[in-house]
Amino acid sequence: PAGEQAGPDLLARRFATLGSHSPLFYEKPLELVSGSGVWLTDAQGRTYLDGYNNVPHVGHANPVVADAINAQLRTINLHTRYLNSRVVEYAEALLATFGGDLQRLFLTNSGSEANELALRIARQHTGHTGVLVSDFSYHGNTTSLAELTTGLTVREPLGAHVRPLRIPDATGTAGTEAEGRLLEQALAEVDAAIASLQEAGHGVSAFLYDPLFSTEGLLQPPAGYIEGVAARVRAAGGLVIADEVQSGFGRIGTSMWGHQMYGTSPDLVTLGKPMGNGHPVGGVVTTADLLDEFGRHNMYFNTFAGSPVSSAAGLAVLQVMEQEDLMAQAQSLGGYIAGRLRAIAAGSFLVGAARGRGLFFGLDIVEPDGSGRPAPGLTKTLIEDMRERGVLISRIGRDDNVLKMRPPLVFTREHADLLLEQLQQALSGLGR
Ligand code: PMP
Repeated sequence: PAGEQAGPDLLARRFATLGSHSPLFYEKPLELVSGSGVWLTDAQGRTYLDGYNNVPHVGHANPVVADAINAQLRTINLHTRYLNSRVVEYAEALLATFGGDLQRLFLTNSGSEANELALRIARQHTGHTGVLVSDFSYHGNTTSLAELTTGLTVREPLGAHVRPLRIPDATGTAGTEAEGRLLEQALAEVDAAIASLQEAGHGVSAFLYDPLFSTEGLLQPPAGYIEGVAARVRAAGGLVIADEVQSGFGRIGTSMWGHQMYGTSPDLVTLGKPMGNGHPVGGVVTTADLLDEFGRHNMYFNTFAGSPVSSAAGLAVLQVMEQEDLMAQAQSLGGYIAGRLRAIAAGSFLVGAARGRGLFFGLDIVEPDGSGRPAPGLTKTLIEDMRERGVLISRIGRDDNVLKMRPPLVFTREHADLLLEQLQQALSGLGR
């Protein structure tokens, strides 16, 4: 708006009001003023290709979503204790994308609320409190999720009822003996964690995992790992929760939900980020039995969650995904990008493994001395350089050295070529 200060003044005003600790990307924070599809424009009028944001799933400022929200807001918006057809229509459309017994939905306003609720349901059902998570994960910002946050910089002490698991990474070992050994060791660690929870009297309520292991740096567990953990957790009376906040909504290309790449179905699936294309919507999808059991013992009320406006946003996202066949696009374009990333990895001393699935991909950046050691400093330099080149990406992983590329699903081949071309130049620009 007119009169608003850009640049350093805005930053100072932000610090003066919101504090200097809420994280901002980049050495010189980027002030963005508008977006369209996969493009973003900054306060100086420069445009950037968005290779990072998954919330604007069907594109920044998508007109179908904007019109649906606007029309609903001008008609009626309600809290959840009145009947309204839009909400039911959305629940039906969303549940139709799930298979098997996953046919009930709780709506929330965020991924954190969804995970918080899923953990409550698991505690209620099992009578246990113990939780297994990966040892470098993020599932949200509530107190009980902070107690099981093992990744990122914000750390509360781990809860006594939490056991972190080191997720084995089998990237590059598919079908080998090494993969088999990794699996065996990792499942022995799961057995030990479960035994420790039981000895301490916590029991096992849930295994909570992100099917893509995104925060962890897009790890690829050995074949049979998720199935093995799920079987052990269930044998101990626990439930399996798939956190699909990052991996869901067709992101992986081959299926709508990330957990569908494994041979076991979770008991609870949590949703967020892309669900309303930026309008805050989240959810927990579960079975009729678990929903009914929870409902018998608890009144779950959530003022804003699943309002007609949120439901209109969610419906519009599903509608655009279908009309534009975005999941198929994620699969074919993802395959193309994966091939090119493997070629980049093979041709650069700075790149280790190429990672990812569908339209979520990563590259390990390593020291150029052939040691394979992670190079977080170089990774940061690359991301800053990519921004100067007009492409937004980020980084993840235990060692902060995995380039994170996870664009809106409306990314096309032309956008991918531009990103890859700039990435290749940025890598050569590092002079090695
Ligand atoms: N789960 C995962 C895997 C996430 O990436 C995030 C957000 N980064 C959350 C949960 C929390 O979602 P929200 O910020 O909407 O509460």
